[in-house]
Amino acid sequence: MASEFDLIRRHFTRPTPQALLGVGDDAALLTVTSGMELAISVDMLVAGTHFFTDADPYSVGWKSLAVNISDMAAMGAMPKWATLAIALPQADENWIAAFATGFFACAAQYQVDLIGGDTTRGPLTISVQIIGEVPSGRALKRSGAKAGDEIWVSGTLGNAALALAALQDRFTLKQDELAACLPSLHTPQPRVGLGLNLRQLAHSAIDISDGLLADLGHILECSNLGAEIRLQDIPCSKVVSNHLADKQVQQMVLAGGDDYELCFTASAGNHAEIAKLAGQLALPLSCIGTINNNPGLTIRGLNNELINIGKTGFDHFA
Ligand code: ADP
Ligand code: MG
Repeated sequence: MASEFDLIRRHFTRPTPQALLGVGDDAALLTVTSGMELAISVDMLVAGTHFFTDADPYSVGWKSLAVNISDMAAMGAMPKWATLAIALPQADENWIAAFATGFFACAAQYQVDLIGGDTTRGPLTISVQIIGEVPSGRALKRSGAKAGDEIWVSGTLGNAALALAALQDRFTLKQDELAACLPSLHTPQPRVGLGLNLRQLAHSAIDISDGLLADLGHILECSNLGAEIRLQDIPCSKVVSNHLADKQVQQMVLAGGDDYELCFTASAGNHAEIAKLAGQLALPLSCIGTINNNPGLTIRGLNNELINIGKTGFDHFA
């Protein structure tokens, strides 16, 4: 049976070109680029709550890092370093190896170095901390929205929630429909390139982890403003669009989580520039509404009618 140190050496020790010192000492050492601020965030994934206990370990590895990188994207920060604290019920080497492969695949795609962590026995729990850099004073905050701003969303919404509903037998999808939606749930692609470009263009940004309404709600609350959005302008995949007449699917688009797209607000004067950026990044960017001074969020349905959505997003304690 592998010791804790064998596991760390075999599975979690890789070169760390962006760090002075990585895994193996009592602490890692970093040089912060001059003129930059550090952006730091941590997330916890608990088996049975955030992923199925029998979930594919590659996907769990990918996603545990990707959701943190997404927070860097939402701040307009460049992700650079990560730490990983993991509690494992047993030293299942096959599971750990597949988890590490997924984790490092994501790390390689986004050039993030794993610089340290903690490995312990316990109920399967994964906590990743991410550290990034952003030019001083340039981070994109939730509080920066202004009345008159246009509201934008990247990519498409609803795939992850629809895939989850299908896996939980709450919604019936054909095999090929599920296959098309699953990558959004299992291997989300955080929008780092977009976030970096938005530093110059946007007033505020957030990543959509808990659902559009809940996350846009955070921008409104932090900025003390309201908004009106149009369901018909919210970008959806072909599969989601095909089911969009279904109220349950509308709810997934508006309030389902886990898509890890960015929602941001920008002055209308930047509209053309943002449309151009979509082409450069080969990433759809859709204007879905406007920020206003009336408190609260107004939603226009597919026929421009006012719609009321009960549950606005996922809240662990609601
Ligand atoms: P200490 O007892 O000094 O905290 P540990 O024995 O916990 O050290 O860890 C030894 C080294 O391995 C440290 O550099 C730590 O950051 C690193 N480490 C432990 N677990 C992980 C992990 N899951 N991923 C990456 N690095 C890890
Ligand atoms: Mg330790």
